[in-house]
Amino acid sequence: MAAALHLQRGLRERLRSGEVEITVVEPEAYFTYHPLLAEVAAGSIDPRHVVVPLRRVLPECRVLTARITRIEHATRRAFADAAGPGEPPAPVELPYDLLVVAPGSVSRGAPVPGLAEHGRGFSTVGDAVSLRNHVLEQLDLASATRDPALRQAALTFVFVGAGYAGVGALAELEDMARTAVRDYHNVDVTDLRWVLAEATDRILAEESPELAEHTLRELRERGVDVRLGTTLASAADQVVALSDGSRFAARTLVWTAGVRPAPMLRDTDLPLDALGRVRCLATLQAVGPDGRALPGVWAAGDCAAVPDPNANGDPCAPNAQHAFAQAELLARNLVVALDAGPYAPGLEAYEPGPASCSTSLGIGRAVAHTRRGARITGRRAWWLHRARHLRRLPSAERRVRVLMDWVLGGVFSREVVSLGGVEYQRSGFEEGFEPGPGRPPGAGPEAPR
Ligand SMILES: Cc1cc2nc3c(=O)[nH]c(=O)nc-3n(C[C@H](O)[C@H](O)[C@H](O)COP(=O)(O)OP(=O)(O)OC[C@H]3O[C@@H](n4cnc5c(N)ncnc54)[C@H](O)[C@@H]3O)c2cc1C
Repeated sequence: MAAALHLQRGLRERLRSGEVEITVVEPEAYFTYHPLLAEVAAGSIDPRHVVVPLRRVLPECRVLTARITRIEHATRRAFADAAGPGEPPAPVELPYDLLVVAPGSVSRGAPVPGLAEHGRGFSTVGDAVSLRNHVLEQLDLASATRDPALRQAALTFVFVGAGYAGVGALAELEDMARTAVRDYHNVDVTDLRWVLAEATDRILAEESPELAEHTLRELRERGVDVRLGTTLASAADQVVALSDGSRFAARTLVWTAGVRPAPMLRDTDLPLDALGRVRCLATLQAVGPDGRALPGVWAAGDCAAVPDPNANGDPCAPNAQHAFAQAELLARNLVVALDAGPYAPGLEAYEPGPASCSTSLGIGRAVAHTRRGARITGRRAWWLHRARHLRRLPSAERRVRVLMDWVLGGVFSREVVSLGGVEYQRSGFEEGFEPGPGRPPGAGPEAPR
């Protein structure tokens, strides 16, 4: 979306004259701003406010709600499927002149028994809403049941993977649950058990070691059981077994243990590196067989292996900062190449500025580091985190809506209603049908009401 927005600006006249046409293919009709998903899960932000409707912001582009299934660059054709999951395929063939590849990454699964059945991801707005409802439902269940084992399992929340997605989601949900239990007569905050398992010897690999250490201390002070150097061995039958030998029942298991490039890239003839990312030059053009630019292919974001000069030329880490900065440069370079060709001397190389990063840990708590190298914690970091994401959200209207959510959240206390029923929205309707001989379909109601 960011690349298309910049291209739309850079090519406005040509788009209007019909000389150029941009097609954006995306299975969702919206863009998702991931760094605020943890606050969606905690109920601080309305889910609709962290997504941006593509057709609204890209009026000069053709937006196709479909999933690319295959790309054949040799013949300059992409193949898409416009059908939703579980529906019969609706194939679409898309011939193109220039291709921008940015399908991002997907959660990196692992062959752990029970993970596929009982684990949950945390990468979409649907995941955030569903996890929030699930956590609140567990509090209801724990309050209602008389079975101590079930109560214990309901109040045990396990997160695997301590990057910004795992740490942010756990910290925000723990903060929300702390507020929510005040309304229960028989569930206390000390009954909740939060476990964070991380395979390496530190959390928040994207942060500086000092801030990661601060976050670790804060989580432990809040009672979170953080286990470093620990992996998930099994989740079969909703019993979590960790590599340190511990075993306990848990009805909530969130898997945030890293990402891998979009699997669709394997069904293309594009140049991929060992991890499956599109091999790119610093100009964001794919690398051709001769080591020069492969004409007509550009890539950015998590799916692109773009050399990072600040990391000795190793590929850029998958994060939003790189993705947005690369999208802007990609659009600039593509506009130049449109007239001057793929080997034009005017193409710029990607040079990321100093990184700035922040993670919210609940209301009034965060860790952040600035471009100038300052490391901040607590309420100041939290304000900075909010200001930074307000600036980065790629739609003025969404910025205002998120700001209003935060202002209202400051005036009233946290919203702790579970709308889990929305996920099973047909159940009320289906309950009205009784099995048995009944009346034939279409015979009308049994008795007037
Ligand atoms: C919960 C969470 C929190 C995060 N927090 C931070 C943070 O605080 N700071 C930070 O810097 N980064 C953060 N990130 C990482 C950051 O969001 C990503 O690095 C960034 O979104 C990558 O951008 P992208 O455009 O490459 O991919 P995405 O933003 O994932 O966009 C890829 C798009 O391609 C679409 N797509 C996928 N496959 C296909 C296909 N076959 N056909 C058509 N379309 C397809 C997807 O639907 C998606 O909309 C977070 C990520 C998550 C999940």
